[in-house]
Amino acid sequence: MRSPGDELDDLDARHLRRGLRRIDSPQGPRVHIDGRDYLNFSSNDYLGLAADERLKAALIEGVARHGAGSGASRLICGTLGPHDELEQCLAAVKGTAAALTFSSGYAAAVGTLTALAGKGDVVILDKLCHASLIDGARLSGATLRIYPHHDLDRLDSHLCWAVGQVDPATGRILVVTESVFSMDGDRADLAPIVELKERHGAWLLLDEAHAHGVLGPAGRGLAAELGLADGRVDLLMGTLSKAVGLSGGYLCASRPIIDLLINRARSFIYSTAPSPAVAHAARHAIEWIAGPLGDERRRSLWRHVHHLADRLRLPAHSAILPLILGDNATALAAADDLRQHGYLIPAIRYPTVPRGQARLRITLSATHCEADIEHLAGALASRRPPDPAA
Ligand SMILES: *Cc1c(COP(=O)(O)O)cnc(C)c1O
Repeated sequence: MRSPGDELDDLDARHLRRGLRRIDSPQGPRVHIDGRDYLNFSSNDYLGLAADERLKAALIEGVARHGAGSGASRLICGTLGPHDELEQCLAAVKGTAAALTFSSGYAAAVGTLTALAGKGDVVILDKLCHASLIDGARLSGATLRIYPHHDLDRLDSHLCWAVGQVDPATGRILVVTESVFSMDGDRADLAPIVELKERHGAWLLLDEAHAHGVLGPAGRGLAAELGLADGRVDLLMGTLSKAVGLSGGYLCASRPIIDLLINRARSFIYSTAPSPAVAHAARHAIEWIAGPLGDERRRSLWRHVHHLADRLRLPAHSAILPLILGDNATALAAADDLRQHGYLIPAIRYPTVPRGQARLRITLSATHCEADIEHLAGALASRRPPDPAA
């Protein structure tokens, strides 16, 4: 039998071994590890809601009103009031007829793609799509085509090929992209993608995981920012675990698509419903994100993004700023060095990013302060320690 120890040694030798680090404080711009404080630039809590007093109170209220657990999967006896209210709220914010929530964004991606695509269908993905989308597409049994990151000529040629393969009466062609790419922070060229999929009669699944709450009017995402949220994107996916500050995933679409997912998405059908308290709190968070609190947090977040992007001479596309360093050992050493100086920034390596593109992935939050950003910029320039007085 192949030994797990040998396999781990092999990962070690290639600087690809990962381990868990315990944090002894709530999630936030400052975290406590092993008796020491760190400035945290590793979280996707873009609006600083994860430990926000209002969200904590909403979660506690959710437990008091609706209980802690949901008892069963949604189709058995687990659809409770807060699940229904959250889905109505998501559909209203995203401008679709209906929505369905899942226990995670990963479960939403895998459930949706396996339910809507299968043998005889074609799924076309951007090369840098998130693992959950790739896994869902693979598991679906559909024929996969990958286009190089942002290469819309290749997307077009894949679509032309797919139209010749798929019977339009019985088959489906799905184009899959993220709006903000999770490890590069850049944005999909959405308007021409929508035109292409419409011209070829395909559907588009848009994963707004890193865009909801961050981009667009009222934080409604990239489709809304570009005026494409009026039904032109067939499947709008997202997560409750990033800007929303909780956990869970969702898919917004037409009523028939959502009804089909309720019947076919195995990660929805065969999984116990998320806690009703989380659904209750998530509905509040989604409403706050679309209102004045969200606007205020977004102003602060984007001020930080522009500040750091200017200092690092990087484009300011989103709250994710990658510093690509190349090989695994270099990225690991840089992350270690920054950690010794009090900064928590992850080294992202293969297979999360392509080989030879290991990087520091910096993520910003509305609840960082000006000085945090300035210290980070200084540390990245000279690896200076943060000012303990700040
Ligand atoms: C994080 C992420 C997911 C998965 O969402 P979870 O709620 O964390 O499971 C899906 N897609 C993208 C692009 C992501 O970054």
